[in-house]
Amino acid sequence: MKTITLNNGIEMPVLGYGVFHVSPEECERCVADAIHTGYRLIDTAQAYYNEEGVGNAIVRLDVPREELFITTKVWISNAGEEKAARSIDESLRKLRTDYIDLLLVHQPFGDYYGTYRAMQKAYREGKVRAIGLSNFYGARFVDLTENMEVKPAVLQVEAHVFAQQTVMRETIAPYGTRLMAWGPLAQGADNLFKDETLRGIGAKYGKSNAQVALKFLTDEGIIAIPKSMHKERMKENFEIFDFELTEEDRRAIHRLDTGKLKVDHNDPVLAKF
Ligand code: NAD
Repeated sequence: MKTITLNNGIEMPVLGYGVFHVSPEECERCVADAIHTGYRLIDTAQAYYNEEGVGNAIVRLDVPREELFITTKVWISNAGEEKAARSIDESLRKLRTDYIDLLLVHQPFGDYYGTYRAMQKAYREGKVRAIGLSNFYGARFVDLTENMEVKPAVLQVEAHVFAQQTVMRETIAPYGTRLMAWGPLAQGADNLFKDETLRGIGAKYGKSNAQVALKFLTDEGIIAIPKSMHKERMKENFEIFDFELTEEDRRAIHRLDTGKLKVDHNDPVLAKF
């Protein structure tokens, strides 16, 4: 598995498996299938209510813990230093592990400064190997990052071929923060699976639109965590390291970028969760 080095020196797989909207009952089976397929990075969150499923799968499977890379996120109902600290211990318990590889603030609402302080503490105590942010944009990202000692290792935001996040990539670069794409297949919207540009490129290599879209992101150094509950699609999304895109392919995919996001985290309505 191709990895990237984070700003604190740890290695993170560039491709992983996300479990948003996977029921607690299904989660254990899906994560086991993903790990059997070869995925080592698993992305969950307190708000997905399936951390136990992830934990059960990683304990049940015979894969050394150090080969896995587990990401979870502190939800807004746990914002603030004390609550966040308690929730981190709860996540560790549910995930059945001594450490979380990457812990993110899920959304920039509530006392996220307190949340981040708790995450820094957990990082220093060895409960977490890297910390970062999700859904932070512009001044919110810079303000928190400038004022905190441990710079975010990762920023997880919506990113895909139709929203390539060029501005945020420039914003986070001075801190060595790496971009992680949620919705790397645009959640199937905007006709991604039937897009003619992706189809034309994929036809040259015997690859699907999904594979071309994920290959493009990972080539750009963006960590991608596609989700599928079907084993054959998990496999399809994983088989992206046996072909190369040309410069011309990449230029054509750059032209698909509309910059339009499905979820705008600057929308005041979202702050009233
Ligand atoms: P995604 O872009 O991964 O798309 C998932 C959809 O595409 C599903 O409907 C799936 O059935 C379909 N699909 C997957 N592979 C396919 C294939 N090869 N061919 C055809 N259809 C295919 O969207 P997502 O699940 O929202 O995002 C991925 C992960 O990102 C989540 O599971 C979660 O871990 C994370 N996420 C994080 C946030 C956040 O706020 N931080 C928000 C959303 C998602």
